[in-house]
Amino acid sequence: MNIAVASGKGGTGKTFLATNLAKVISQQQKIPVCYLDGDVEEPNGHIFLKPDFKFEQSVSIPVPQVDDQKCTYCGKCSEVCQFNAIIVAKQKVLVFPELCHGCGSCSYFCPSQAIAEKPRVIGKIQQGYSGKLNCYQGELNLGEPMPVPVINDLTGKMDKNNINIFDCPPGTSCSLIAALSKSDYVILVTESTPFGLHDLKLSVEVVKKLALPCSVVVNRTSGNTDLIDNYCNQENLNILAKINDDRKISQIYARGELVIDYPEYSKIFHNIVEKINLEG
Ligand code: SF4
Ligand code: SF4
Repeated sequence: MNIAVASGKGGTGKTFLATNLAKVISQQQKIPVCYLDGDVEEPNGHIFLKPDFKFEQSVSIPVPQVDDQKCTYCGKCSEVCQFNAIIVAKQKVLVFPELCHGCGSCSYFCPSQAIAEKPRVIGKIQQGYSGKLNCYQGELNLGEPMPVPVINDLTGKMDKNNINIFDCPPGTSCSLIAALSKSDYVILVTESTPFGLHDLKLSVEVVKKLALPCSVVVNRTSGNTDLIDNYCNQENLNILAKINDDRKISQIYARGELVIDYPEYSKIFHNIVEKINLEG
């Protein structure tokens, strides 16, 4: 089962939920459990899980390399590029690798087979263990604009024989779509505020378009959760848990620890696991 943990915006407690959930499931289940940190622009699950990263693999995209001997300067490559990453001057083809999305259109349409592709590294994937929990982390290099290839390589690490917990990038852009591409079930983390509701609605729209089942966890509640309750009733969404805005939880989190190591909080996560029904 592939479980994605997502939220419409950063800072709602997505990684808090994903790391604690992954650890609790790995302690309970006999089958292997994997945590994948897909928040590739700012992965921080490792702070809490402290995996011993031993394996590292680079992520690259193919960028064009033009053979001046074969090029006729016809301009077709520049015409088909949607990202202005290749421009044909009078007697020179200029390639801007930072703008290139590695789509391959220019080499495909070049009538003279003058374009080869060479890999350009944009990030990396690391792997290690946190106890029994297998942990992967995707990381986009600083200044790189395209997280999707790193997320795609990371989803490729999901083993169908495992329970995979995928910590998604925040927001509802193409990064989230890539992160959800192999998910069976989505947990949306939100807060009971007007902003939280607004972002939850956007996330639910995306998840519904992808026809994925989903549930909600309301984090940092301080009393009234009517806003979220009413919306979830209306959309027929199950609320898995409401986690209080508790100063002690914030302190545990700030120390880079897991709250499931504290008996008064571990029950919250055991209850969530029961409600998810890991047998599908
Ligand atoms: S399409 Fe091929 S031949 Fe035409 S300008 Fe581009 S690289 Fe040169
Ligand atoms: S690979 Fe795609 S994005 Fe990159 S230069 Fe060629 S057409 Fe443009």
